[in-house]
Amino acid sequence: MTHEQSRSLYDRALSVLSGGVNSSVRAIRPYPFFVERGDGGHVIDADGNRYIDYVMGYGPLLLGHDMPEDLRAAVQQKASEGPMYGAPTEVEVELAEFVTRHVPSVEMLRFVNSGTEATVSAVRLARGYTGRDKIVVMQSGYHGAQESTLVEGEGDHTQPSSPGIPDSFAEHTLAVPFNDEDAIDAVFEEHGDDIAAVLTEPILGNYGIVHPVDGYHEHLREVCDDYGSLLVFDEVITGFRVGGLQCAQGKFGIEPDITTFGKIIGGGFPVGAIGGRAEIIESFTPAGDVFQSGTFSGHPVTMAAGLETLRYAAENDVYDHVNGLAEDLRAGLTDICADQAPNYTVVGTDSMFKVIFTREGPGDVGDDHCEAGCRQREACPRYDHCPKTGADVKAAQTERWERLHWPAMKERGVFLTANQFESQFVCDAHTEADVEETLEAYKEVL
Ligand SMILES: *Cc1c(COP(=O)(O)O)cnc(C)c1O
Repeated sequence: MTHEQSRSLYDRALSVLSGGVNSSVRAIRPYPFFVERGDGGHVIDADGNRYIDYVMGYGPLLLGHDMPEDLRAAVQQKASEGPMYGAPTEVEVELAEFVTRHVPSVEMLRFVNSGTEATVSAVRLARGYTGRDKIVVMQSGYHGAQESTLVEGEGDHTQPSSPGIPDSFAEHTLAVPFNDEDAIDAVFEEHGDDIAAVLTEPILGNYGIVHPVDGYHEHLREVCDDYGSLLVFDEVITGFRVGGLQCAQGKFGIEPDITTFGKIIGGGFPVGAIGGRAEIIESFTPAGDVFQSGTFSGHPVTMAAGLETLRYAAENDVYDHVNGLAEDLRAGLTDICADQAPNYTVVGTDSMFKVIFTREGPGDVGDDHCEAGCRQREACPRYDHCPKTGADVKAAQTERWERLHWPAMKERGVFLTANQFESQFVCDAHTEADVEETLEAYKEVL
């Protein structure tokens, strides 16, 4: 594999783009490959190298790189009619109707342009609706590049995790470890009457994929109800992926008060959305008084792409296909790890997967372990060793993953998300042959 074109493009990029990229996670060392085009479940780089793509845009591409006929036609038509208007169009109503029909907790929506914008607006909405300032987030949860959630620390001892954010933002953000009911109880005992919302991903999807332990979401729901706080599920990554069209909340049987969406609902174009009970969502201006607005919000091309993607998924066996292939992958990876790297943990659900390079395992686990991705089953012999919090994931061999594992997989034509933390995705265009080739590569590399 040669990378001359990518190398020279990165050389140019470093002169005019900060760090040579427009999103920090893309700055793979020593330099990223530049993509020329997609092809089904694959991408082809500027030097003509082909990779099986499990990055899938970091989540938005449920169907892969080839748009089905109806999707392509809808996108092209909206673009050619004139890109946008600053006046409402029918397609945004149709997409909202589709989402409210399939996601039980969502009666009403507001569309925005990114997942970050969705979580920023959701936090403002929760604060405006409850008249309270504090929010609770999970350590290592990810809600985009926003001031209120870029915090580190524990409980009420939090500080901004990036320069440029005043300490006063972190003062209103409480951080607890995922899957820790006692930690939630403790922050509510002390601050409950000031807590506007608990904001969490239903599955930590940006930090190694951490599955909830039994009863955790039910506990969050109960505590929020006891204190009159809102439960906000950030389904930007899990929405219309985990649990199919009902999203992760349907799969887990939990009704959050507010849900944020992004990624898949835009069918590959920039998108975000805030949904929930009508009474809450109507607190946004102009129906209510919590300010929210956006020049590009409800963009016709995006709305059409999102609608046709979801319709296609509803009318074809997309979820069976992607979930089945991902299960084969996770099961194959579990077997390979058992043979070659017994301390590692295979994680993921539905069409998400990852191998976490955990440092300790239970030794010989026999057969009674989670067979296709960690489910946090207490009866599983791995239970005491599988990651339950972001800190557990961080304690794994992240440098080995990033510096040795990722490049070795890339050299074998498998494009994984570039560090230990970000999830990988199977798309509708992937095939059994892709899965076999991928498992062969893991077998050589692990
Ligand atoms: C990707 C992601 C975001 C941020 O979305 P952007 O579109 O990148 O701003 C927020 N929350 C979660 C859970 C995400 O996965």
